[in-house]
Amino acid sequence: MSISEIPLLIAAIITTLFYIYAVIISLLENEKRAALISALSGIILSGFFFVLYYYPELFFQGAATIFPLVFFAGVLVFLFPIQWRLKYPYQTPKHKIDERDIMFSRRSLIAGTAKYKEYYNKHSDKEKLDNIFRKNPGLLEKGSTYYDRFLFNAAKSSFDAIGALRGLVNGPVNQNVEKVDQVEITRFIKKWAVKLGACNIGITELKDYHKYSVVGRGADYGKPVELNHRYAIALTVEMDKTLIDTAPLASETLETSHKYLKSGEIAVQIASFIRRLGYEARAHIDGDYRVVCPLVARDAGLGDIGRMGLLMTAGQGARVRIAVVTTNLDLDIDRNKIEHSMTEFCRICKKCASTCPGNAISKNEMQEIDGVTRWQINQEKCFTYWSRSGTDCGRCIAVCPYSHSDNFFHNLVRFGIKYNPLFRRVAVIMDDVFYGKKPKMKSIPLKMKY
Ligand code: SF4
Ligand code: SF4
Repeated sequence: MSISEIPLLIAAIITTLFYIYAVIISLLENEKRAALISALSGIILSGFFFVLYYYPELFFQGAATIFPLVFFAGVLVFLFPIQWRLKYPYQTPKHKIDERDIMFSRRSLIAGTAKYKEYYNKHSDKEKLDNIFRKNPGLLEKGSTYYDRFLFNAAKSSFDAIGALRGLVNGPVNQNVEKVDQVEITRFIKKWAVKLGACNIGITELKDYHKYSVVGRGADYGKPVELNHRYAIALTVEMDKTLIDTAPLASETLETSHKYLKSGEIAVQIASFIRRLGYEARAHIDGDYRVVCPLVARDAGLGDIGRMGLLMTAGQGARVRIAVVTTNLDLDIDRNKIEHSMTEFCRICKKCASTCPGNAISKNEMQEIDGVTRWQINQEKCFTYWSRSGTDCGRCIAVCPYSHSDNFFHNLVRFGIKYNPLFRRVAVIMDDVFYGKKPKMKSIPLKMKY
């Protein structure tokens, strides 16, 4: 073997190993289409390099040098980190959100009651829209498209358990204050949260725009939000990909309800721990929020809010559930800045918008909404679909390229998307080729089939 043949041999070996790895990963992820395409492209590319290596006479002179060089140059062009920090203005909403305007609050309004009249007298435009979802069976209700008596009742049971947790979000504060070191206690809370099952955790100062203006759910409905804490701890819990991939089937809602519970459990424990040390703390869990969790999580450096309106983390995309703890305990805040490459990717991608069965996600450019340039989903359309399907859908989460598993293969793609604008464009096409432009809904995995 001459020295000039070494790059060719390296290219042949790298492509072979990479494609074998891609096939194995795809099979493990139950992505048969991706496995088949990886196998075919592996055979073609590696095969080409090996033929070139063993039978150079079949090609023009110099091919054995030129092709591997083209290959390495291509890898370099697409994966070389050339965009370390995207410059986006740091924008914050000008006004607080009234929680009574969110769909979960609106669906709790019963026609004929004083609450119902009071709300729709002020928001007559919303009554018409809401009467559309009210004509459908409703979330986790019999008669809906994906009704499954076991899975629906199992999801309801998780929500029952969350209901029990709500009694623990707040509580008495120990009067014997434990003096703690800011850095040490922050480190402990973060490590403990991970031990309890969190996958991302970050800390930010609590800002006014993080808080709802008025409570929209539970016994305090209609009361102004009073929360004088200085810090917010945001944490996420990963949702099982195999179950999310079944969206919008009931198995998806089984998983979301479970992870609402899991994230709530962790937040409640952290809040209780802080109160035991002698500092105020409140957990914000499903159905009992005083803060807008995705906004807090974004500012705590956990990710960015994408086209589908959900927080997208670097490792799991939107395949997470969030909970927050607010407190007066001095904590070391994360100076980690917002991950804007996700916004850039969303601009090109639009996969969630093309796939959304409720037609609720915009394909247009971002718009300025209350001082922030962003996308906004049509929450009425989304919730109407939920009320018809009976599940919380999640199709947008399932198809999002950021939702792929957290492993070397997908993290290599995430690296390219983050740092290389050229690769971002290629990644959108590759995701369509490997997983489908409109990925098919997966069937319920064996572990939850009965
Ligand atoms: S599917 Fe694409 S456009 Fe939608 S949130 Fe994910 S990355 Fe953004
Ligand atoms: S949850 Fe379903 S209906 Fe709602 S935005 Fe996502 S894909 Fe559309």
